[in-house]
Amino acid sequence: MDNKNSIARYIDALDRSFSAERLDRDLRHLTSEPHVASSPRNNELAQYVFDEWKACGLEDVRKAEYDVLLSFPERIVVEIAAPEKIALVLKEDGYPQDPDTLRGDVGLPYNAYSASGDITAPVVYANSGNPRDYDLLESLGVSLKGKIALVRYSEPYSYRGFKALTAQRRGLAALLVYSDPKEDGAARGPVFPDGPWGPMSHIQRGGIPFDFIYPGDPLTPGWASVPGAKRLPLGEAATVPAIISVPLSARDALPILRLMTGEAAPKEWQGALPLAYRLGGESPRVHLDVKMDNSVRRIVNVVGRISGSEDPDEIVLVGNHRDAWIYGGLDPSSGTACLMELARAFGRAAKAGFRPRRSVYFANWDAEEFTLTGSTEWGEENRDLLAKGLIAYLNVDSSASGEEFNVAAVPSLSRTILAALRDVADPATGKTVHERWKAGSGAKGAIATASGSGRINAIGSGSDHTVFLNHICAPALDMSFSGAYGVYHSVYDDYYWMTHFGDPGMRYTLALDRIWARIAVSLAAQPLVPLDYETYAVELKGYLEEWAKRFDPQRTKTVKLFGLVEEMRKAAAAIGPGAAGETPSATDIAPETRREANRLLIGIERDFALPDGIPGRAWFKHLVFGTRSTYEALLLPELTEAAEAGNEGGEAAAVTHLEEALVRVTARLLKIAGLIRGRAWS
Ligand SMILES: [Zn+2]
Repeated sequence: MDNKNSIARYIDALDRSFSAERLDRDLRHLTSEPHVASSPRNNELAQYVFDEWKACGLEDVRKAEYDVLLSFPERIVVEIAAPEKIALVLKEDGYPQDPDTLRGDVGLPYNAYSASGDITAPVVYANSGNPRDYDLLESLGVSLKGKIALVRYSEPYSYRGFKALTAQRRGLAALLVYSDPKEDGAARGPVFPDGPWGPMSHIQRGGIPFDFIYPGDPLTPGWASVPGAKRLPLGEAATVPAIISVPLSARDALPILRLMTGEAAPKEWQGALPLAYRLGGESPRVHLDVKMDNSVRRIVNVVGRISGSEDPDEIVLVGNHRDAWIYGGLDPSSGTACLMELARAFGRAAKAGFRPRRSVYFANWDAEEFTLTGSTEWGEENRDLLAKGLIAYLNVDSSASGEEFNVAAVPSLSRTILAALRDVADPATGKTVHERWKAGSGAKGAIATASGSGRINAIGSGSDHTVFLNHICAPALDMSFSGAYGVYHSVYDDYYWMTHFGDPGMRYTLALDRIWARIAVSLAAQPLVPLDYETYAVELKGYLEEWAKRFDPQRTKTVKLFGLVEEMRKAAAAIGPGAAGETPSATDIAPETRREANRLLIGIERDFALPDGIPGRAWFKHLVFGTRSTYEALLLPELTEAAEAGNEGGEAAAVTHLEEALVRVTARLLKIAGLIRGRAWS
């Protein structure tokens, strides 16, 4: 694949393979039954993925299996005990127009890794359950100890495991997290089955492990849960909560809130239920009886590949998870359908003679919903292979809940992403995806982590890219088309929801296949790996400016860092064009020289790794990209956390680590420039 024409023909072959009908057929198949991790149905679907990938021509298709700590409910009782006894429903309503919602075998709604226990205690309403919410309650004299906190899932999204940790730290006995219609229900628009938002009975399930400490099997931090691996005793697993937590619908939260008698809560604490939300006072007592079965179970990733013709050890990895809380219409089955169609296209193109220089690996992960488990264990098991050869990990968790393109990525992928967006038509308008995305509102200037448009968002955690970005320290992205979506992790996230609201006709899922294919082919087939460290340096300078604005306005601590970033930018500019979308040909470089330049390019992101990890979170090794406990992106994690804690020694150490990393990166860029100067980019 030596020139632009052959890459264009390759893309063309992939495009011709994509079929909206097949996407729809796969989506129906994947969503036809509940398929939580380790369930027989989810393992049947693993076999389906395995068989399809073998049939379509992927090579070395295999199941990567791990024995990991999962978490299932045996008994969940939530009832109001006083002033009157009221049983809660703990179940979602069914609708005849969507028979999938009428089935009885969808299981108890629960929070994975909740503690077990049987308690009766007064309830305190704590808004979103963030630290400042409890600060306010304490400042008003409301005691928290031993009580049950009732909190909202919040907008912008804040990870429920952080709510659990916060409640645990504040001495609460248990946590009830409910979906207020203000966030994802009737206050936003028409509810299911008439619209995309959540009805009163919808319940957001989900895990609450502290996976901002480390994701993956709680019993094997940093190593793979292969059969026979060493395992921590459960009591030593730092990511397993000690608090009881149960998710509730708005319908079940309503009678609890109605029985509260304290003074009215602040305006920002008022939700959209028809009552005044109250603080303290005589509060109802709630009885919780939760018995969890937290035990080790087998999970199954499926992995296959198209081997590169020239440098098969250099790897572009694409992935999505398969396991769902119930049907997983959008999350993750729309993404799984998208991945299946991508794999078929690559397999067929390979049969027709199209093969990239470097390998493209396809991964269908298991147990993402628990604690990013399948991808994390695989990443840990294949650490050496990936550290050496992983060019980038391209994640699609969910394909399309609407028409707004959305991407979070490291800046080295920016140019490749933008080129792909310019080359794919938006299905509704016929403009390019890039034109529509650029015109979108977007949170310009801010570090946007929610669904922004018109800019590449900083990448946090919350899906399977985490191990590759934060632990292996390779470039990564996560992308989707998004829109109104109020049924996350509920029974209503199903085929009916997808075909009526999320992506009728699978048009946007198909557009995402086209984008995914372009990015993967660009990285795998261009003679020089098109990682863009000039844009990276420009972004990094922006992150430093934001940090300096808060913590070093005179720039006394960061003057050297700013100088080093500028040196990085100049060195990067010398090896590639800054303009987005240009394609290197590099045909006149001797293969050995080119190979050496690529090897150096692929290693750059690893230069930002801190081998011992960020203080207190050794598993997270990236100096530039980290994650807050809310899952929000945390830029310059070591530096920012030290500064926020007022830890001057830690701050100085972090500055040194960044300086050393930048020296490594610039030296590498200069070496690449020396190898390819003047000849690399056409
Ligand atoms: Zn997901």
